[in-house]
Amino acid sequence: MWIEERETGLAMPAETGLPRNLLLRSLPFEELERLSPVLQKIALAPRRVLQHAGLPIEHVFFIEEGLVSVLAKVDERNAVEVGLIGRDGAVGSIVVLGADVAAFSHFVQIGGSALRISVDDLSRALAELPRLRAALQGYVHLSLMQVSQTAACSLSHSFEQRLASWLLMAHDRCDMTQLPITQDLVARSLGVRRPTVSNAFKQLAERGAFAKERGRVRILDRAGLERIACRCYRVLCRQCDAVKRSKIGRKTLIALTLAFALFEIELAVS
Ligand SMILES: [Zn+2]
Repeated sequence: MWIEERETGLAMPAETGLPRNLLLRSLPFEELERLSPVLQKIALAPRRVLQHAGLPIEHVFFIEEGLVSVLAKVDERNAVEVGLIGRDGAVGSIVVLGADVAAFSHFVQIGGSALRISVDDLSRALAELPRLRAALQGYVHLSLMQVSQTAACSLSHSFEQRLASWLLMAHDRCDMTQLPITQDLVARSLGVRRPTVSNAFKQLAERGAFAKERGRVRILDRAGLERIACRCYRVLCRQCDAVKRSKIGRKTLIALTLAFALFEIELAVS
């Protein structure tokens, strides 16, 4: 699993009341304490749209449990998934760069909970809390990387490889042993027809990668899935590690990411 607990001054277990969200857990105690009064815990019902593309961003949601799809509209009726957000991230994090309108829609795939903060409260907090600002900027960088890698992936790799990568990413972000996902959900997420998912599920299950149990998928062999997954999964893991280690400025990092993304997409379509 590539999502690790980030460095924090607290190093306390979740049972003590610390948020489960990894961005919030990365903050020093003083910053978390100042932020806590303006964080509101809410339930995330499956199929709820947290943000609509093209509409103003009113709240940022730090995901505590569950899984959110980032959807790009391709025509009036259809949208494809370009990213996944779990307890590693926050919906609406782009406000840290000054954006006030959502570029993508955000749809709850697996229900759970989130800590919600209004954009006004977050703006005030960002001016005063440097570690929060750095954590969100780092996450925006990873999100840009994920969106671009997903685009390159869908043009270049087989469905079985993409499915293995998707399952690993969902598993990392949900931190659940059993994922409450259906073949319909995966078909919508990966932009393919249901029979294509059904065939790939069957093949992966026969290889012992996972077991299907009443609307849930239990991962049995993560190492096996990693061997099947395309390089996109490993690229994103490495990128995550690089962001954690990076000493260069976040703005420079984001500019480099965009340049890299365009290069990858160009390679994929050429
Ligand atoms: Zn790929």
